[in-house]
Amino acid sequence: MLQVAVLSGKGGTGKTVVTAALADVLPGAKAFADCDVEAANLALLLSPKERGRIPFFGMKKAEIRREACVACGLCREACHFHAIGKDTVGHYHVDRVRCEGCAVCREVCPERAINLVEHQDGEIILADTAQGPLVYAELYPGSGNSGLLVHEVKKAALKESGNRDLLLIDGPPGIGCPVISTLSGINAAVLVTEPGIAALHDLRRLVTVSSGFSLSHWVVINRADLHPGYTRKIESYCAGLGIPVIGKIPFDPVVISAVRDGLPVTRRECAASRELQSIGMRLMEGLSL
Ligand code: SF4
Ligand code: SF4
Repeated sequence: MLQVAVLSGKGGTGKTVVTAALADVLPGAKAFADCDVEAANLALLLSPKERGRIPFFGMKKAEIRREACVACGLCREACHFHAIGKDTVGHYHVDRVRCEGCAVCREVCPERAINLVEHQDGEIILADTAQGPLVYAELYPGSGNSGLLVHEVKKAALKESGNRDLLLIDGPPGIGCPVISTLSGINAAVLVTEPGIAALHDLRRLVTVSSGFSLSHWVVINRADLHPGYTRKIESYCAGLGIPVIGKIPFDPVVISAVRDGLPVTRRECAASRELQSIGMRLMEGLSL
C-alpha cells in the first residue's frame, strides 16, 4: 500500500482543501489519516461517521501523595516549569498543564511522596467516510507530545487501511517533530505552498527536512495567480531541485463556499476544482495508481 502525505511549510496554505479534494478524486480503495493533530480539520470536509475512540496517553505527569508529603517545599524549588504550587492550607499540588514530566521533583523529594502517573492527553477517533476509513485525533488543550500522537494516528490508520491501495495523510504544517513523524515510512509527499516570500522560505525549509527521507516529492502552488512573480520563483526553485510542480490552483471564491458547506471543492464546478482534478490525474501517473 502506498502512503502519501500532503504537507506545507506553514499553516493556511490550503493543505487540507487539497487533501480532501484528492480524497475525492483519486481512484482505488483508500484510507485517510489526519496527522495535523493540533488542528485536525480533514473530518470537517469528509463528513465522517464516528465508529470508536482510543484514549491517547502522552508523557507521565507528577502526582504528590498527600499522606506522605511533609510540606518541605523542595519539589517546588526544584521544578523549573513552575508546575508545583501550594494551596491556602499548605498542601502542595502539581499543575498538570505545566508539568513536563521531567521527574526532578520525584528525585529531590526526601519522603518519596511523588510518583509519575499516566495522563490522558487526547483521543484517537476511528470513523468511516464515503471515500474510505478516516483516523484523526483530538489533542486536549495544553497537552504536548503531538509527535507521538501522530505516530499513533498513523499506526491506527495503517491498521484500518487493511489491503487498500492508498493511505492519504493530511500532514501537520511546519518542520517540527509531528512532520518528522509523518514523513517516516511514507512513499511520497505533496508539498502545498502559495506565492509569497514567507511561503517560499517555509517551502525551502520543508524540502530540506523531507529530502532526508527516501520519498518522491511534488509541489502544488495554491492561489498561484495572486502573485505570478513569486509563482515563477517557486517554479524555478523546484526546477533547480528536480521537483515537479503538478498544479497551480487559481484563487477561487468557490473554494471558500465549499469549505463553508463542509465539502471537498471537487464537488463543485469551478476553476479550482478543475485544477485539483488535474492534480489528481498527475499524481496518479506519478504514483502509477
Ligand atoms: S515532573 Fe518536572 S515539570 Fe513536573 S512537577 Fe515535577 S519537576 Fe515539575
Ligand atoms: S519534596 Fe516531597 S515532601 Fe517536600 S513538599 Fe514536595 S512532595 Fe512534599
